Amino acid sequence: MAVPHHGAVPTGLSRRSVLTAAGLTAAGVAFQGSLGAVSAAAATTPAIFYSPHQDDEAIGMAGSILEHKAAGRPVYLVLVSKGENGGIAQNLNQTPCFLGDKCSAPGHYHELGWQETWPTPEVVSGRTSEFNVSAKALGVDKVINLKLSDTAYGTDGEYDAFVQQIMGKVRALAQQYPGASHKFTAGWLDTTDPTKPTNATHKACSDAAYWLMKNGELKDVRFNHIYTYEAFSRDQRDRGADYVLNIPSSHMTKKRAAILAYNTWDPNRNLYTAGYHSVPTMLEEAYGDPREFVYALPSNYKPGRGN
Ligand SMILES: [Zn+2]
Ligand SMILES: [Zn+2]
Repeated sequence: MAVPHHGAVPTGLSRRSVLTAAGLTAAGVAFQGSLGAVSAAAATTPAIFYSPHQDDEAIGMAGSILEHKAAGRPVYLVLVSKGENGGIAQNLNQTPCFLGDKCSAPGHYHELGWQETWPTPEVVSGRTSEFNVSAKALGVDKVINLKLSDTAYGTDGEYDAFVQQIMGKVRALAQQYPGASHKFTAGWLDTTDPTKPTNATHKACSDAAYWLMKNGELKDVRFNHIYTYEAFSRDQRDRGADYVLNIPSSHMTKKRAAILAYNTWDPNRNLYTAGYHSVPTMLEEAYGDPREFVYALPSNYKPGRGN
């Protein structure tokens, strides 16, 4: 697979990156309603984006972040969970790598010896380094790391407690920044396979938004569909979206730099391509598709980890 050409390559960025710059297909049609335009009236209040994990902001929110920046809005980027993912440690502890020649590690060799069980400290640290590089590439005005332990996959009680924790943090930000808009992931849609359960962490984030909206504590809320890049072929990704953002090429350059933060091998900067050893397909597909998919809360929304 070809190494993509990208103009300003940050220092240390792997030249072995295989993120594709696939040809563009017909872009979706922008919804012309209230979701379509960034409100000028709200220009001085921040747009607050909530990324459940390190990588979601680069995959499916970066274009929206840049859209709001371009409209003059301050953008705050919130990292919700610590991202304790033992699977990533397993992948980075193993040689040969499941990515084969796509792996950016020198010689595709990595036996890092990272802790694979909770709370996976090296995974959390490595992923967060990638997140911070991504946030910098996007030029956000503030990074807020909630450092919540991700208990969305625990018992039902632990799931509910996680939702409550997110609600508490979002409520505090809503009170601190009156008039802010709040952008979450479309957790009820976020699965790599529409026949399989949704990502519990993402669902917990949209559940928190749902309850706060129901209480009247949050207004101006949108949801970006993250997993669509893997779940659907290109011509199906906009299905049901209220607003398809067609990302201008200047913004796409920055989005691609953010995505490449997750495929950079530079141990001196604590960068180990953790993201690419987690969701390679999603990162590649988002890299090649200059669109993002924005939703309002559906009227038939069902809270709970569910399916
Ligand atoms: Zn995620
Ligand atoms: Zn590898």
